[in-house]
Amino acid sequence: MQTIKVAVIGAGAAGLMAAEVLSQAGVTVDVYEHKPSAARKILMAGKGGLNITHSEDSVAFIQRYDQPDWLQPMLDRFPASAIVAWMAGLGIDSYVGTSGRVFPAEMKAAPLVRAWLSRLKNDGVQFFYRHRWLGWDEKGQQVFARADGSQFSQHYTATILAVGGGSWARLGSDGQALDWLAQHCVDLQPLQASNCGVQVAWSPFVQALAGQPLKRVQAWLTDVEPVLSDAMLTEYGLEGGLLYALSRPIRQQLNTHGQAEIFLDVLPNISQQELQDRLQPKAKQSQANLWRKAGLDPVKSALIREILPKSAWADPVQVAALAKRLPITIHALQPMDEAISTAGGVRQSALDHQLMLKQQAGVFCCGEMLDWDAPTGGYLLTACFASGRRAGHGVLDWLKRSDTT
Ligand SMILES: Cc1cc2nc3c(=O)[nH]c(=O)nc-3n(C[C@H](O)[C@H](O)[C@H](O)COP(=O)(O)OP(=O)(O)OC[C@H]3O[C@@H](n4cnc5c(N)ncnc54)[C@H](O)[C@@H]3O)c2cc1C
Repeated sequence: MQTIKVAVIGAGAAGLMAAEVLSQAGVTVDVYEHKPSAARKILMAGKGGLNITHSEDSVAFIQRYDQPDWLQPMLDRFPASAIVAWMAGLGIDSYVGTSGRVFPAEMKAAPLVRAWLSRLKNDGVQFFYRHRWLGWDEKGQQVFARADGSQFSQHYTATILAVGGGSWARLGSDGQALDWLAQHCVDLQPLQASNCGVQVAWSPFVQALAGQPLKRVQAWLTDVEPVLSDAMLTEYGLEGGLLYALSRPIRQQLNTHGQAEIFLDVLPNISQQELQDRLQPKAKQSQANLWRKAGLDPVKSALIREILPKSAWADPVQVAALAKRLPITIHALQPMDEAISTAGGVRQSALDHQLMLKQQAGVFCCGEMLDWDAPTGGYLLTACFASGRRAGHGVLDWLKRSDTT
């Protein structure tokens, strides 16, 4: 009888979840990771509290993704509630924030990662750190490089690739494995930054305010629903949740037109008429004071002054109109390595419904390396976990079908 052994490449959210499904089904699993330790991105996400999933209803949830039809069956089998139960199984309580985001109660990733790795090891999963996957050879064996540069090939009954996207390369996901797949004719959508800052050509006057928040503003693009959130002014442009939420349409406009235009309502809680009334000149009040009392803090005022000619600063009609629809031209996204996540990756058309590569039987893909995109809010990790489980179950189904025992 042939021993069934499965290799999982990448010890991140998706790879560890795939390893869990397989090991709990009694399959021998070897996890290969080119970094010296596992789950570095999850641990980094833990510095922001580890927003692991979201509590909104499943209909709204699935619409956060750019490929809802592809992801729906995976998320149906491992929805937010399953993530909460899975965490509880590792001894980690969860907490739902006011925005509906779900976090571990302690707002840390390390206890979760520790408990998870320990359970995987108890289930027999073997970890090979400092081992980089280089591809498969002509016999279909997986090829690895050790830290000293020496290489070896190993036969596996099946292999799950969970190598991540292309951001924060220092945490491990450097895109090299995807380059290899592209060179070997796997259908890929090129990686692009997602959930990232944007570049705007500010004047030195606005640049001087870098580091200051732009609070509770509404932003939209033509034909895109407005988003209410905060942003941060930076020397290069803007950063923060507001931009992450609009990252997909911004990227699409940049790809099509070479630049993107977003509009801000810097005071969404009051009408244009009310703002206009508040801006009516009053005796003995400086313009700066008038604007501040009307709700225009120094950052919002600077953005208005950036666009409106000085001659119009005393005109309440023009100032109010601009404050309610302030255009900002974006020239580029921040570099991919600084993005929270990447869009692009292995296309759905390259995979069957079990996430197995159509051109290489027995090789499955999951996690951020797949061509889907979502905003921050717990949606990224949720899809990584769910697709990792899908790939794990895909291997089990494929083993049954191909009767390798
Ligand atoms: C700063 C930051 C904060 C974030 N916060 C959140 C959050 O709060 N909520 C959320 O939902 N998402 C968050 N994300 C995104 C989320 O962490 C990722 O989408 C998710 O971890 C990706 O999981 P993955 O398993 O697909 O890839 P990864 O976690 O990137 O894992 C891939 C693994 O494969 C290894 N690897 C790559 N190539 C090879 C190779 N050739 N051989 C061997 N090993 C290889 C890498 O070293 C890595 O360990 C955050 C991301 C960042 C950068």
